[in-house]
Amino acid sequence: MIVVMKVGSTEKDLENVCNKAVSLGFTPHIIYGSERNVIGLIGSGPRMNGLGLIGELAYVDKIVPISKPYKLSSKEIKDTKSIIDVSGIKFGGKQIQVIAGPCSVESEKQIIETAKSVKKSGASMLRGGAFKPRSSPYSFQGLGEEGLKYLAKARECTGLPIVTEVMNPRDVDLIYKYTDMFQVGARNIQNFALLTLLGKTDKPVLLKRGLSTTIEELLLSSEYILSEGNKDVILCERGIRTFETATRNTLDISCIPVIKDKSHLPIIIDPSHASGHSQYISALSKAAIAAGADGLIIEVHKDPENALSDGAQSLKHETFEKLMIELHSIANAVHRSL
Ligand code: PEP
Ligand code: MN
Repeated sequence: MIVVMKVGSTEKDLENVCNKAVSLGFTPHIIYGSERNVIGLIGSGPRMNGLGLIGELAYVDKIVPISKPYKLSSKEIKDTKSIIDVSGIKFGGKQIQVIAGPCSVESEKQIIETAKSVKKSGASMLRGGAFKPRSSPYSFQGLGEEGLKYLAKARECTGLPIVTEVMNPRDVDLIYKYTDMFQVGARNIQNFALLTLLGKTDKPVLLKRGLSTTIEELLLSSEYILSEGNKDVILCERGIRTFETATRNTLDISCIPVIKDKSHLPIIIDPSHASGHSQYISALSKAAIAAGADGLIIEVHKDPENALSDGAQSLKHETFEKLMIELHSIANAVHRSL
């Protein structure tokens, strides 16, 4: 249910509605709008018949049901785009943000060199995995906390905020100490225990769509974070599994307009995991920006042939630099900046 407040209602009025909602068994979520504020009431079991009491309050305009199964992520509850601030980098506004870096943190030297290089090319955040979700248990699994320390050093050297993956609820506290944003990988999109825990933190979450996750399921997963109180969720499309084998996955470009139609959350594209081949990343990045994506996350490696993971889909530093230059005109064409 959405409680739409009258224009001019006060903080005290909001608080009164929230208290009444809690007494009826709902969890209220205040969403501040440019014109008027609304309160999302989450929970179905509670005393729905008590809602009439709230509807009659002088400062309440109306109460409307939310028709979609996802609630807090939906446009019904908030029809203006959310701007998510990751240590000063804003996702969802006019500026398109590019996150770049290696698939895995391999050494201190590697991550610092890469950070300096991608910053010079115009990236606004650094990526790098310290805990890696590998298909084979015999593949490189990441450097763990040592990798997190190297990432923090790279941030110190460049000022670039970092994003790194959390796979296991037991690592949330550890990763919290180092990262600016948590990444939930495709394989953990329905690890509801992990999502719930991240919802209780105050750091943004980059939520990657699963290999066979529908858009509705992606938004429902975001609800596990939002409903715990963490409003800072950025969605990421990274390719879905189809019958096509020429690319590692198939980039679902249509999810960009669909998500923008249904949700206020920012959506970014990962052309690296979508394609699996570095030669296709440029075209997919351009298509993503043209289609309205709020950002990109791209794998970059100095020596892709010897990368410990995902070398085939990693851009060399100079190719990334060239791509960043080319992306400017696409961004301008859709009235965005880079
Ligand atoms: C990654 O970003 O390196 C990664 C493992 O991504 P995904 O979860 O999308 O496969
Ligand atoms: Mn990777």
